[in-house]
Amino acid sequence: MTAARRHATHEVLNQVPPLQGYDVAADQALLDGLRREGGDWAENEVRQLGLLAGSAATQEHARLANVHKPVLRTHDARGYRIDEVEFHPSWHQLMTTAVGFGLHAAAWADARPGAHVARAAKFIVWAQAEAGHGCPISMTYACVPALRHAPDLAARFEPLLASAVYDPGLRIPDDKAGLLAGMAMTEKQGGSDVRANTTTAEPAGDGSYLLTGHKWFCSAPMCDLFLVLAQAPEGLSCFLLPRVLPDGSRNAMHIQRLKDKLGNTSNASSEVEYDRAVAWPVGELGRGVTTIINMVSATRLDCVLGSAAAIRQACVLAANYATVRHSFGARLIDHPAMTGVIADLTLESEAATTLAIRLAGAADRAARGDAAEAALLRIALPAAKYWVCKRTPVITAEALECLGGNGYVEDSVMPRLLRDAPLNSIWEGSGNVTALDVLRALARTPDAADALLAEIDLAAGGDDRLAAAAASLRDQLKEAAMAGQAAQGQARRLAGQIAVTLQATLLARFAPAAVADAFCDSRLGAGPIGPAAPFGSLPGGLDLPAILDRSTVTAG
Ligand SMILES: Cc1cc2nc3c(=O)[nH]c(=O)nc-3n(C[C@H](O)[C@H](O)[C@H](O)COP(=O)(O)OP(=O)(O)OC[C@H]3O[C@@H](n4cnc5c(N)ncnc54)[C@H](O)[C@@H]3O)c2cc1C
Repeated sequence: MTAARRHATHEVLNQVPPLQGYDVAADQALLDGLRREGGDWAENEVRQLGLLAGSAATQEHARLANVHKPVLRTHDARGYRIDEVEFHPSWHQLMTTAVGFGLHAAAWADARPGAHVARAAKFIVWAQAEAGHGCPISMTYACVPALRHAPDLAARFEPLLASAVYDPGLRIPDDKAGLLAGMAMTEKQGGSDVRANTTTAEPAGDGSYLLTGHKWFCSAPMCDLFLVLAQAPEGLSCFLLPRVLPDGSRNAMHIQRLKDKLGNTSNASSEVEYDRAVAWPVGELGRGVTTIINMVSATRLDCVLGSAAAIRQACVLAANYATVRHSFGARLIDHPAMTGVIADLTLESEAATTLAIRLAGAADRAARGDAAEAALLRIALPAAKYWVCKRTPVITAEALECLGGNGYVEDSVMPRLLRDAPLNSIWEGSGNVTALDVLRALARTPDAADALLAEIDLAAGGDDRLAAAAASLRDQLKEAAMAGQAAQGQARRLAGQIAVTLQATLLARFAPAAVADAFCDSRLGAGPIGPAAPFGSLPGGLDLPAILDRSTVTAG
């Protein structure tokens, strides 16, 4: 008897091959949105990135970048501080692709209308390869509008932040072929309440400042430049802090340790101390929050894009698995209870992607001076950031369960998605803080509510459910505006209502009727926003096969 025969104890049946060699960009909601919002010219590139994202090679890079966590090297062999973080080569490979495809700051250097939409679509696609490295990519994208408050610094660094070259390593920023930027606001005593920051900024006498203090969270510390908040004599101010000074010496930004995190494992998040670190002021001194909020806002868009990506990925993995796997003589997806679960998850994915791309279109037009789109973005972005990011963990958990026990095992990728899922809701304004920002928008940007209602009214006329939802939202906005600070207890409810109503109207305008109908039937109405019950509790009489079509992909 041969060795092979001796070990052939059984035939492996009914296991689902890994979903590899597929086009992640084969996502109709995404592609339709890309065309509609002005990024049609980028479709080839989006598809190219989609094939790369779905390839076995990229999936292996993603696995390796997460299995081999970044390692902090505080000192060299002779005891000198170096404050460097080492990454696995797969991290660098993912970064090379992200920068090469312009997912970082390139859109700011692209005059074509739709440049930010094209970038958003690419971000949604590539985030499905691996989410962790999106952190420095997003921060590099988002720093530009804040940096422009210091025109000299922007003229000096923006072209390098937009460069298509990924050039890792700590060197003089002006001499590098491409730069990355991070952000350091959060301190030990609080991240939401940044006005309580204790880091000080002392004028050095030559226009620069010397920063002393700490930051409790500083992700991607190997970036070249950081926007930092610190207390100057004029009050809390925004500064640009380089890792390496123009004379080639290392700035006094000392990495204390890396965070041991729930997820986001490939990305290094650190605690740092500044010991008279050199930094240059950005924007008006004493108005640091007003300056850095430009970066926060752009990063919030990426939180929505990244969460839409995670929802889509979870949904596609679940649908693919359930299409191949059988139980009780039928494909999982054909069992009515499972059909309902995956259709319900698909509705969330369609709604998240459609809303995310609409917001990217608003960001694109706002960046080109469109005031109405800026007003819409001001209220719709925090509402979407609150809602879409909050939905992600529960959606990911449900999608994981569609794979049964296999979903709970690392090989399925689902555990990584689930661990990463809560993060977008925490950073750049945790759930409550983001929901409260909706109230701030109502109070301080009177045009915001009008812009939102005008957008919703584009669809509300043709459908009783939408008309009722629009009327209810109009009342709630009015009440919240009158109540002011007293509406804080209702902030989450209002943010959710804005996001879901906007999603419903966008789907009614742009999605197949089966999707829009099911979304309105299950998500609008007098009850709690969204399905109160777990997923898979859709009402009867819906066209579920047409919905499932949207999350079906073909492996190559
Ligand atoms: C992996 C990771 C990476 C990060 N990277 C960075 C980085 O690179 N740079 C950076 O600056 N920060 C970073 N952060 C920090 C992040 O932005 C903060 O954690 C976040 O802003 C919340 O601040 P906090 O942790 O101090 O919580 P707190 O401010 O203490 O808030 C705790 C809770 O209270 C809620 N809350 C606060 N105020 C109110 C209120 N008025 N009403 C109701 N509820 C309220 C919040 O929503 C939150 O749920 C990172 C965080 C994580 C997890």
